Amino acid sequence: MEVPKTANIVVIGGGVMGASTAYHLALRGEKDIVLLEKEEFFGLGATGRCAGGVRYQFSTEINVKLSLVSLPMLERFQEETGQSIDYRKCGYLFILTNEADVQVFQAAMRMQNRLGAQTEWLTGDEIRQRLPNMRLEDVLGGTFNAQDGLVDPNSVVMGYINAGTRRGVRALTNSAVTGISVEHGKVTGVQTARGSIAAPVVVDATGPWSGATSQLAGLRVPVTPLRRQWLTTAPLAEIPPDFPFMLDFAHSLYFHREGMGLLTGMSNPNEKPGFDQSVDPEWELVHMEAATRRLPLLEKAGLASHWAGLYEVSPDAHPIFGKTPVKGYYLVTGFSGHGFMHGPVSGKLMSEIILDGQATTVDVSMLDLARFEEGRQIREYHVV
Ligand SMILES: Cc1cc2nc3c(=O)[nH]c(=O)nc-3n(C[C@H](O)[C@H](O)[C@H](O)COP(=O)(O)OP(=O)(O)OC[C@H]3O[C@@H](n4cnc5c(N)ncnc54)[C@H](O)[C@@H]3O)c2cc1C
Repeated sequence: MEVPKTANIVVIGGGVMGASTAYHLALRGEKDIVLLEKEEFFGLGATGRCAGGVRYQFSTEINVKLSLVSLPMLERFQEETGQSIDYRKCGYLFILTNEADVQVFQAAMRMQNRLGAQTEWLTGDEIRQRLPNMRLEDVLGGTFNAQDGLVDPNSVVMGYINAGTRRGVRALTNSAVTGISVEHGKVTGVQTARGSIAAPVVVDATGPWSGATSQLAGLRVPVTPLRRQWLTTAPLAEIPPDFPFMLDFAHSLYFHREGMGLLTGMSNPNEKPGFDQSVDPEWELVHMEAATRRLPLLEKAGLASHWAGLYEVSPDAHPIFGKTPVKGYYLVTGFSGHGFMHGPVSGKLMSEIILDGQATTVDVSMLDLARFEEGRQIREYHVV
């Protein structure tokens, strides 16, 4: 497909945020939308490398509110777009090993319950009974939500792209944006190696790359790429079908069932910001030692695959939505490693911000770019 010369709206980035934003704009009847992705396929960025977890459990009200809209959208996804996404409600279990985390998670659980999320407290003994294969002597307790689970990220991206395309979105791969034109404080278009597009509205949905992309428009957007990695094992018959998405919070270590085996990841606290997406073998060893301490049967597990991707980290671990000092240039970025699950609602909110001037489904006005200059950050604690 040729790069068109003009568009009403250009969305840059074909991950979950760009795909959902383009789809929701088209759903509202908006015409002449172009989605540009630099890679050969959509969803090869953070979205395609993510662990697929979806959860209601957060420490801030705004993140819980985003989940309360977004996860039901995933439940209705196939009905709405025709694409199945393999939503598995295995539940998320945060296990806690120090008293300070217990206090924070219990307070967060009460807030989640008040907002309507059915998170419950499990004692250390209840957790040990549920997971007899794991070594959990040091676990004080944890929070569990049976509605949390797993969804296939690529199906969500392609579901939105195909449904958007049916409504007229022109979705182009191999189309890296290399320049953004701004005249008198207003965006006027983008340049790609395949041609320029004049457009009065441009949405930056480039996730880990959004700091760099926004620089093309002369903006400073504080989103940093940070490598995170995981691996999957060959089949493990001992893992029961109801094994939850389990997070050992203090160690940033997680496990969930993947096919007949397990997926496990652990965040390196010393990782330096950068765009390297290769697997770090040294960290993989550290990770596997920690994972095997928790789950000794991993000692005999075979490696099936391993991947690294980039978190798109904002200074307060919350997303950045909406307008910027460049008129017509919008942001939907900075989800800080838990954005896949908020992709559906975020695209809907962006369509409201662009077409109505503000988001109404969830009020995200406090998650604007200006908050960093104005000292209005709000910190999310449940980040792994
Ligand atoms: C290892 C790992 C595990 C994760 N686990 C989870 C999880 O369990 N649950 C969860 O909810 N989230 C998880 N996340 C976070 C989640 O993946 C992200 O928050 C989310 O996918 C961000 O989506 P995005 O569309 O903003 O970014 P991306 O998916 O990265 O999409 C941005 C796109 O923009 C394209 N692009 C960049 N620059 C340009 C340009 N100049 N021109 C054109 N295109 C461009 C990129 O190629 C990319 O396709 C995880 C992330 C990682 C790395």
